[in-house]
Amino acid sequence: MTKNLQQRVALTSTSTSTKTTIDDDNVSIKHTKKTTTIRKLYTWDEIPEWQKDNEHIIAGYVRETNSFRRCFDSLFYIHNETGNVYSHLVPGVVFFLTMLFDKYAIVSFETTTFTDYLIINLFFLGAFTCLILSSTFHCFKSHSLKIATFGNKLDYLGIVVLIVTSMISILFYGFYDNGPFFYGFSLLTLSFGSACAIVSLKDKFRSREWRPYRAGLFVAFGLSAVLPILTGVMYYGPHETWTRIQLKWVVLEGVFYIFGAFLYGIRFPEKYVNGTFDIWGHSHQIFHLLVVVAAFCHLKALLGSYELVHMNL
Ligand SMILES: [Zn+2]
Repeated sequence: MTKNLQQRVALTSTSTSTKTTIDDDNVSIKHTKKTTTIRKLYTWDEIPEWQKDNEHIIAGYVRETNSFRRCFDSLFYIHNETGNVYSHLVPGVVFFLTMLFDKYAIVSFETTTFTDYLIINLFFLGAFTCLILSSTFHCFKSHSLKIATFGNKLDYLGIVVLIVTSMISILFYGFYDNGPFFYGFSLLTLSFGSACAIVSLKDKFRSREWRPYRAGLFVAFGLSAVLPILTGVMYYGPHETWTRIQLKWVVLEGVFYIFGAFLYGIRFPEKYVNGTFDIWGHSHQIFHLLVVVAAFCHLKALLGSYELVHMNL
């Protein structure tokens, strides 16, 4: 545990402070003020079993609150979920505002129609949904086991929504002149998305026995993104596919998602220096930031692809 945290954790019970002031007659008066500081942060050993998830994070926990108000209040002091909350809350709000002011964010061409705004905003809405559900989950996960489990389901649902909206939006421009391909791959994406949403929400599929199938389904969903790319390469050739969907940015997007999930999986860096990354810099925060970077890569690809279609029309 860092010294700073030890001090913060030790802030409890009552403390007394004395202040000296000079009154009108220059007489020194001593005021004694009693303040009570409520203890906010706990260590790994002090939290209930259900809250224990990452043993490499030693301190900075908000212990089970059983109060939405107290979870909300945790937004205003620093703890080991602060980074996870704000790393998705701030970009989530930015995506929402961009959607509201889409006229300024999207270059308008003579051929631009309402459908273009609908498709690009579909992605903004997906990114906003994912990021807001995630930050809400991280803010309220200290409430109770019941709320944490429910929030975790919504967190997964948000990821599914982001993947589905990302894929459908880019498929629209990648196959703008080929309806059957666009509808076919969109249907495949929706089917995978629905299946992943069901296994994330239904308690039966969240059990330990279903874990490998659940993981397998998510991996298959991710890999299904390769199918339209391969189809594009065969149908239009590698060069045109590269420009059509701005493949450079799509590949970078995939790299950031996978690298983030990998770091989270191996719990780097906290695993190697227990306690050092309790508040800032642990794997889940890095994963969150990489998800945001990946979403921006997708936006770059989507806008590039949209502009290309309208320049060609
Ligand atoms: Zn998270």
